[in-house]
Amino acid sequence: MRKFLFKIVNFLQGRYGIDELYKFLFIVFWIIAILSIIIRNPIIYLLEILICAYMMFRAFSRNIYKRQNENAKYLKIRDKILGKLKLQKRKWADRKTHIYRKCPNCKAEIRLPKKKGKHICTCPSCKKDFKVRCR
Ligand SMILES: [Zn+2]
Repeated sequence: MRKFLFKIVNFLQGRYGIDELYKFLFIVFWIIAILSIIIRNPIIYLLEILICAYMMFRAFSRNIYKRQNENAKYLKIRDKILGKLKLQKRKWADRKTHIYRKCPNCKAEIRLPKKKGKHICTCPSCKKDFKVRCR
C-alpha cells in the first residue's frame, strides 16, 4: 500500500494540475456529456472524449510554462467577455438616468447623464470635446 502511494505521489510530482481553464473545460465537458445523453450523435461523443483527453493532458503535463500561458490566454478572453456583460448590465440598470457614448477620438465608453438636446462633452480619458445628441 505504501509503495503504491509512493508511486502515485512520484507520478504527480511536477505535474501542472488544475487551473481556471481546467474548471471551464470541466463545465463544458459536463454540458456536452448531458447533451450526448439526449442527442445520440457520434460527433458530440467524439467532442466529449477530446475535451476529456485535453483536460487530462493539461492536468498531467510537465510543461508548466506552456500550460500557464494557455490559462493566461483563456483568462484574458474570459475577462473581456465578463467585462462586456457587466457593462451591458450597467447600461440596462441606468437606462432611465444615463446614456452611454463612445468617444470618437479614443473609443472609450463614457457614461453621461440623460439630458434632452444637443450637448458638448469632454472625454475624461483623452480630454477632447465631442457633440452628443440625446432624445
Ligand atoms: Zn476620448
